[in-house]
Amino acid sequence: MKRIAVYAGSFDPVTYGHIDIIKRAVRIFDSVIVAVAHNTGKNPLFGLAERVAMLKKAPRGIRNVKIEDFAGLAVDYVSQCGANVLIRGLRMVSDFEYEFQMALTNRKLNEKIETIFLMPNEAYSYLSSTLIKEAAILGADVSDFVPAFIGKRLKAKLKSKVWTR
Ligand code: ADP
Repeated sequence: MKRIAVYAGSFDPVTYGHIDIIKRAVRIFDSVIVAVAHNTGKNPLFGLAERVAMLKKAPRGIRNVKIEDFAGLAVDYVSQCGANVLIRGLRMVSDFEYEFQMALTNRKLNEKIETIFLMPNEAYSYLSSTLIKEAAILGADVSDFVPAFIGKRLKAKLKSKVWTR
């Protein structure tokens, strides 16, 4: 039986931290579906299609990974994919409380789905899409955090839009 896992998130935009998690996940599972959430409570800078397109281009040379999008509950989407594993990334202790709450809520919603946490390389453990966007707004060079093409898109997007948190 194929072991399929779903890595769900907003990916607004995908960072080297997310890519690190994807690379770790494909070593464990036969197939990894990266699922970009339609409904994110985070007022995304990039639209759904843009977030999906960036993810399709970013993790280069990785096989066994599919990029999809989903609406509704993550656990429902995991079931629809024929999977029983939801992957999340854990950066620091500060992630723990929220992720712990979400994992237990998801378990209550569907006890067949197991949440698995992967930790990125420590070099990426402080990266967040939110901070990268804030730094980019203030004119920072974000090339250590995201692939070059995403850095360009961030600049272009920020020029054309006033972003509110
Ligand atoms: P969400 O809005 O669902 O938190 P994100 O795109 O912000 O979506 O993150 C998706 C998942 O990836 C979350 O589990 C988050 O903790 C994790 N993640 C985000 N940034 C990193 C990083 N730098 N390293 C490892 N995991 C990360």
